[in-house]
Amino acid sequence: MGEQICLKKLKSTRDYEPKEVDLFERLHDDLVISILCKLSSSSESPSDFISSRITCKRMYELCRNPIVLAKASPETFVRAKNWSESGRAYLVDCAKAGNVEACYTYGMILFYCFEYRKIGQSLIARAANQSHAAAMYSLAVIKLNGSGGADRRAGVILCHQAACLGHINALREFGHCLQDGYGISQNIPKGRQFLYIANTRDNSGSCGLLKDVGRNLLSNYRHPVNQFLTDWYSMQELGQGLRLCSNMGCGKPETTPHQFRRCAMCFEVNYCSRGCQMCDWKLRHKAECSQFDVDEVEVMLEEAVPEEAAGDT
Ligand SMILES: [Zn+2]
Ligand SMILES: [Zn+2]
Repeated sequence: MGEQICLKKLKSTRDYEPKEVDLFERLHDDLVISILCKLSSSSESPSDFISSRITCKRMYELCRNPIVLAKASPETFVRAKNWSESGRAYLVDCAKAGNVEACYTYGMILFYCFEYRKIGQSLIARAANQSHAAAMYSLAVIKLNGSGGADRRAGVILCHQAACLGHINALREFGHCLQDGYGISQNIPKGRQFLYIANTRDNSGSCGLLKDVGRNLLSNYRHPVNQFLTDWYSMQELGQGLRLCSNMGCGKPETTPHQFRRCAMCFEVNYCSRGCQMCDWKLRHKAECSQFDVDEVEVMLEEAVPEEAAGDT
């Protein structure tokens, strides 16, 4: 009799049980958000994260949670070739959630691509205020080359701050400013000392000799926004008389004609900063420019040496 009641109970329970149990719905929001934070901070492309957003309505809402947006990596931001209102809105939401990378990226895009200089600079400055070394250096370049109104003193201070955070190009720029007395009192020995340290750290870092290399941003370091600018200006026309920085992967354009420095030997290439000039010199221009220069110098030397003197050697 007792066994019969038990069987009846089991039967009735089975009748009321849902056929499929959605385990995801049983997970608490906090747990899903912490998983999404990991995903957004480690995604290597926009599609990695976007594919999660479109899974279901609940995931879409949780992906828009400010905690998740604040952690999103710059790799999840829209690419230049896919620029759209939804991509822009995602960047803005991330910036509003306190994402420093989004502040820097959106600030650079507004400043260079859409020519909103003031709001662009203020967003880059917001990232710089939160110790974002690349933002500090970009703001320093804007102040030093006059892209957003010249303020050499502020540029030198920003270079010094970014250099303290391990930004090698900022250290190099600071050394040059000291050496040339540009925006700061001239001190040639100190300037040379900083340039020597920058070169040593850069060379040691690229060879993996320094243990603390993880703290240094080497001169060939590229933030994803530099790729954005490079791609953007491969599709867009530059304003009349304006030039792009010749350092491959920098992507910054002039904001007024003749703003960038030229190579003093060939006058063929232009750079937004000394950091870009040094990087391009090492990677590419040394071979192109010095080849031209060496040939010229050799011709000049041969012409200058008298025949009888040349025959004596
Ligand atoms: Zn040259
Ligand atoms: Zn550059």
